[in-house]
Amino acid sequence: MGQLLRIIIILFGLWLVIQIVKRALASRNPTPSRPPIIKMLMCSRCGVHMPESQAIKDGDKIYCCEEHRRQK
Ligand SMILES: [Zn+2]
Repeated sequence: MGQLLRIIIILFGLWLVIQIVKRALASRNPTPSRPPIIKMLMCSRCGVHMPESQAIKDGDKIYCCEEHRRQK
């Protein structure tokens, strides 16, 4: 019985060490909270730069607005 108790204590101790190490590593290497890189694209018509999410794509050309896309 004493043997089993020792094993349990050792296993618990091991688990505790793993948890401490995990926490230490996590705090030492915090997940970088830098904003996602926004890809800037240039309008083929006027040359203005805008984030990729706002760009209007037409084939391999990129435009800042619907008007410039129509003007080409
Ligand atoms: Zn434009």
